[in-house]
Amino acid sequence: MIGSEKLVARGLGRSYGDAAVVRHGRTVLTERLDRFLQFDARTGVLECEAGVTINALIDHFLPLGFFPSVVPGTKHVTLGGAIAADVHGKNHHVAGAFSRHVRSFRLLTASGAELECSRANNADLFWATIGGMGLTGIITDVRLTLSPVPSPYVSVRYERASNIDDALELFHADDHRYAFSVAWIDCLSRGGSLGRAVLMRGDFAPNELLTARQRHDGSRRSPTPRLSVPGSAPQFVLATPLMRAFNAGYYHSHPGAPRTKVLSYEPFFFPLDKIRNWNRLYGRRGFLQYQCVLPSVGGREGLIRILEMISSSGSASFLAVLKRFGEGEPGQLLSFPRVGYTLALDLPNRGPEVFELLERLDALVVRFGGRVYLAKDARMRPETFRAMYPEFRTWLAIKNEVDPDWRFSSDLAVRLRLMD
Ligand SMILES: Cc1cc2nc3c(=O)[nH]c(=O)nc-3n(C[C@H](O)[C@H](O)[C@H](O)COP(=O)(O)OP(=O)(O)OC[C@H]3O[C@@H](n4cnc5c(N)ncnc54)[C@H](O)[C@@H]3O)c2cc1C
Repeated sequence: MIGSEKLVARGLGRSYGDAAVVRHGRTVLTERLDRFLQFDARTGVLECEAGVTINALIDHFLPLGFFPSVVPGTKHVTLGGAIAADVHGKNHHVAGAFSRHVRSFRLLTASGAELECSRANNADLFWATIGGMGLTGIITDVRLTLSPVPSPYVSVRYERASNIDDALELFHADDHRYAFSVAWIDCLSRGGSLGRAVLMRGDFAPNELLTARQRHDGSRRSPTPRLSVPGSAPQFVLATPLMRAFNAGYYHSHPGAPRTKVLSYEPFFFPLDKIRNWNRLYGRRGFLQYQCVLPSVGGREGLIRILEMISSSGSASFLAVLKRFGEGEPGQLLSFPRVGYTLALDLPNRGPEVFELLERLDALVVRFGGRVYLAKDARMRPETFRAMYPEFRTWLAIKNEVDPDWRFSSDLAVRLRLMD
């Protein structure tokens, strides 16, 4: 261990806030922990270093017929970052979060000891590291299970929902029939159209659904991004009337009757990866991402209240997503997903009113028994965090035992006063 400075690991820096940086300390880069160590094609179990990215996993294992069991909305994340945030994908309702597919990992702790952690070995540390935002140590390598897939294509059914009730009804009626399920939601619609959405649900496509061209192209490695945002977008692009018009246009661009399309895994799982520097679309002042989960009980009412608040503020952008979470794992501590509904949206930074809106949203989320995702947070208050994460005390006891001097810290840990 280096001196007595504070340390925090960094993957690819795709968390939105201050989780992977530490002021007056050292950020430990993990990109060079990028080796595959062992793979068993019979079981799909892979052992590799923690700086390996989802992108690299797909490039190497998709041609062999395997895909990561859970992927977030970008493939530019490391396995260490995926475990530390316990990321979720479009299949949480059936496959759980990333951690469900992790068999074990090795953790370099503050004492310098490297510990094997699994559900059977150092189980406390295993669960405290999952969703623990890098604060228990540095994950150096990982054993996880990849899933066999029939092709690199996904068969997706697109279906419009005229409002939030319609969307939730569709989710409940037949979500279990699809491995992947997500809805784009219009956070600026109002009245009877509040929460209108386009549901996109599907499965990896078997070969017989592919065109001759898709069969031929299927073994290619991932292409580099084709589109790029050259500079910061001017502020008028983000004006509320224009956003409302864009959202209405997107909604109506999908026909009233459901339709099915077979498309490559890339635009379905990682739509933003196609656009280099997509964040510049929000102009010089940037944006804030907000993601919360509300439990199933009371979730509908909570979602309606949140959507009303966002819509009347006129703050949301065109990027808003609604998903349903399934059951979690019994040992989870700071892991974000809980059974219920999760809403993620971008809010252009228009100044103090956005921060005020987020404070009010936090209060609503707490009232409905929900929580905000730490990997997407940059401004939550310590007391809000404590109200949202009741398992924090258990987590803190494990943290204080493995790292009593808080060698591993981050700006997020300081902001949320986790050590108090
Ligand atoms: C476009 C986009 C879409 C996204 N979609 C989703 C989504 O659908 N679902 C979802 O769950 N998340 C999503 N995210 C968030 C992202 O998946 C997480 O923030 C993830 O943790 C980022 O991984 P990273 O490797 O970039 O880690 P970083 O952002 O670098 O770090 C994240 C945390 O992991 C810790 N960490 C990193 N490496 C290690 C290590 N080796 N050992 C210990 N701790 C470590 C860091 O200390 C930090 O606390 C999205 C992000 C973007 C930009």
